[in-house]
Amino acid sequence: MLVTSKEMVYHARAGKYAIGCFNTSDLEITKAIIAAAEAQKAPVIISTSPKAIEYAGHEVLAGIIKEEATKSKVPVALHLDHGLTLALVEDCLKLGYTSIMFDGSGSDLEHNEILTRQAVEMAHAKKVPCEGELGFLGKAGQNPSKLTNPDDVIGFVQKTGVDFLAVSIGSEHGHGENEALDIKLLKKINSQTGIPLVLHGASGVPDKDIKEAIKLGIAKVNIDTDIRHTFVRGLRDFLDKNPKEKDPREILTKVMNEIQKYVEGRIKLFGSNNRV
Ligand SMILES: [Zn+2]
Repeated sequence: MLVTSKEMVYHARAGKYAIGCFNTSDLEITKAIIAAAEAQKAPVIISTSPKAIEYAGHEVLAGIIKEEATKSKVPVALHLDHGLTLALVEDCLKLGYTSIMFDGSGSDLEHNEILTRQAVEMAHAKKVPCEGELGFLGKAGQNPSKLTNPDDVIGFVQKTGVDFLAVSIGSEHGHGENEALDIKLLKKINSQTGIPLVLHGASGVPDKDIKEAIKLGIAKVNIDTDIRHTFVRGLRDFLDKNPKEKDPREILTKVMNEIQKYVEGRIKLFGSNNRV
């Protein structure tokens, strides 16, 4: 069923596990994520970035996810990843998204707070939760991250009313090399607020750090890069071994199986299996 992300993420926060938030840009990845969640009896968030929305077309992508979510046996939320404008937030809410992230982290703190507050008000008017980002998540090997300042946390949460808070604690977008998390910093942030914290750029973070972070308030873990890598690796392996295969449906079914296996492994690591 299609649900908002609020209840599942708050349950995870209380139970010290995390909900997997997996990015999709097409039918195949969407089906694979939901199949994995069903196999593991896990609530799940399916996430669309502005780039994915641009690639597939917003109505088409949202339509596929809503349709698959509605007939699914597990709770599924449809999430906007890194919404950079209020106009995009509005479009998503019109299309029936059940979870929003507004990312004002490119602005200074004051403007981030003002814009995020507006996004939260728009989302809450439709009873949809909204995530904000404090600090800045860079891209591996390109622009460096700015770690979250724990002293800004209480003010940001109170002024904006966000339901979940994305923090910058050492991970980066894109698959970096062995990105250790600043667990001390996470402890400080977690002592400032009771709201669920969100780990972005988790593809390059060692499993033991992810587990440790989940004990310290991380209740939603975003995975994008490794899903795309799994797709390409699966496609390449299959075509190398089966150069005569001509039917995309046969090829993509094998790719979907690989993605499903990967997602099931992440769900088990996050501890959100057997929660439905
Ligand atoms: Zn992110």
